[in-house]
Amino acid sequence: MPESTFQHPLFGEIRFKTKESHWKRGDKITFISGFNSADILPVFIPQLQGIPGSHKGRLRFHKNAHEQLLKAFAEVQEKDLLRHIKTCGGALNQRLRKPTSGNLSKLPSNHAFGIAIDLNEDDPNFGDSVAPLAPIFEAHGFTWGKAFNDPMHFEVNKFL
Ligand SMILES: [Zn+2]
Repeated sequence: MPESTFQHPLFGEIRFKTKESHWKRGDKITFISGFNSADILPVFIPQLQGIPGSHKGRLRFHKNAHEQLLKAFAEVQEKDLLRHIKTCGGALNQRLRKPTSGNLSKLPSNHAFGIAIDLNEDDPNFGDSVAPLAPIFEAHGFTWGKAFNDPMHFEVNKFL
């Protein structure tokens, strides 16, 4: 159960520990201080209701980002781009990062804070097929994971 401190750009100094006795790629983590997991709350995204992996559109996401998440999916629908969403790989997962390089990361994933969502993870090229949605998510305060070779992944970079 190694412990570590991390400076998160949105939450500040976070202390966490991992589950296993040694550092392990993608290991589960528990927050010790600096982050309140109770701020991660259920949100219903109507546009994801019929999408495999989305738990019928019911995800858990950080409460401060519910509104921008809902607005982004509403805009995807308005612009007739829902057809580009094939699967949802989920949002909340309290674990370390899993870099696409396959290397160990000792940093918490943004999925651990409930501020990231994966779409089309089963598609070739790590979900590159969500590209048409990227400008919409970016306009609502998300970073597209394409920048770090993880195109299925969108994460909040600021609360709006
Ligand atoms: Zn992700």
